[in-house]
Amino acid sequence: MVKRIFTGIAAVCMATSLHAQTCLPENVAYLVKEEAFHHSRVDELSQFMTDELGPRLAASRMKLRAERLVLDKLNEWGLANPRLDFAAEFDKGGWDNEKNYAAMTVPYYCSFAATPKAWSGSTEGLVKGECIVMDVKSKPDLEQYRDRLKGKIVLMPVQQTYEISFKPQASRYTDEQLAEMEKDSRPTGRRWTSRSSDRTQQELQRAIDSLLKEEGALAIVSGSGVFNVPSSRGVDYKSGHPEPLPELILPIEDHGRMVRLIAAGEKVEMELDIRNVFTDNRKINNIITEIPGSDNKLKNEVVLIGAHLDSWHGGTGGADNAAGCIVMMEAMRIIHTLGISPRRTIRLALWGGEEQGLYGSRGYATRYLYDDAKNNALSGYEQFALYLNMDFGSGRFRGVYLEENDQAVPFFEAWSKPFASFGFGTLSPIKVGSTDHVTFSRLGLPAYQFIQDPLEYFRTYHTSMDTYERLSLDDLKVNAAIVAWLALNAAMDDNRIPVKPGYPGNIKR
Ligand SMILES: [Zn+2]
Repeated sequence: MVKRIFTGIAAVCMATSLHAQTCLPENVAYLVKEEAFHHSRVDELSQFMTDELGPRLAASRMKLRAERLVLDKLNEWGLANPRLDFAAEFDKGGWDNEKNYAAMTVPYYCSFAATPKAWSGSTEGLVKGECIVMDVKSKPDLEQYRDRLKGKIVLMPVQQTYEISFKPQASRYTDEQLAEMEKDSRPTGRRWTSRSSDRTQQELQRAIDSLLKEEGALAIVSGSGVFNVPSSRGVDYKSGHPEPLPELILPIEDHGRMVRLIAAGEKVEMELDIRNVFTDNRKINNIITEIPGSDNKLKNEVVLIGAHLDSWHGGTGGADNAAGCIVMMEAMRIIHTLGISPRRTIRLALWGGEEQGLYGSRGYATRYLYDDAKNNALSGYEQFALYLNMDFGSGRFRGVYLEENDQAVPFFEAWSKPFASFGFGTLSPIKVGSTDHVTFSRLGLPAYQFIQDPLEYFRTYHTSMDTYERLSLDDLKVNAAIVAWLALNAAMDDNRIPVKPGYPGNIKR
């Protein structure tokens, strides 16, 4: 065993030292840039993917409509076999908001910009009720509210207060920040925290919800989102279960105003009219299309590029993540239009159900790459050449997060050169979350998320202001050129970025 490992390492070292990684010639880079910058479809595609598609909550009727319209677009462009590909069962089912009105009526009238929580219920037409604040830190606190909730609109306590920010609303990375990202901070450096939420908090929330329902409260109102813009979130719900109470998110300013009035002894009343529709669609699908490979030996190998098509329901999912879809679709169009026949197949995947837990990419991996249940690598695992994902807003690509895979460095160093003048080329060793590349990176496969200028992303995503306006069209054009270029290089190269040493054997289940 030991001897075999040593031989293996020696062979790898020799291969690395003898091989100088190269990229496709400058004339191809020129053609990609020419098509991306002078014949771009990003402007029209941006309007299409936001204003025309609208919100695209996982499994909703609006998401199904978006799938049909995007498939039509890919067919119109002449890409190979655009199709819906089943990914996973989705136990929440579909949900669409059809009416949404919220106002404070006492002590004076004021209408609010509110967003209903996804998968929450409807009011029985226009309802009015007195507001009370329910401050529950643990289950025993619940008892004091028994017999006090019938016909009430229940405000959750203030969770977040407004802090004046002296930071600019939008920013780009400085050279110093990019240089910092290139430093290897393992093992103690920046770590991406996972999105797993606190179990006790979830259990307490369930107890609160069930008491409110039992007692006949009218609705639940919480505060999240600043500058009078509500956040978009969802409630805990499984398809087929009784419909939850209506639940609204108000921006912290409006929610805070009512909580403060009540604390000051004022009587506060609201009126609401909310209609939500639940549908029995329990499937998450991905959209897949290809530019087929032409090399007899390599055409079954796949260079995958992708982004998630689903969004939260408050806005139109502009920066999160129409931006990523626009870039990936435009990159496919550029390659297709140039008529370059790649040696490996280049595949586009527009994932479903990312926001609720990477359902689309995980389903794809389970069906084609690695069967977790049987602990077994499938044929797609060996054929997987690269995955490039975009999901950090609309900002320009400045480099790549390498997921601690040092073997990727020479590839991206060589491939990045024609885009150095666009500020692209920072290679950060770290792993990042929490989007679809994680699905593949977990399997040891070369799968990467880009370093992107933040712009206004962290202020606007998952809110009702995530719309067309959040898109930076010039940045999207540059990003599409970079993806087209990288995908072509990965599809043409004699070599592939290797899977991480020890994989798939080292996959953690
Ligand atoms: Zn996203």
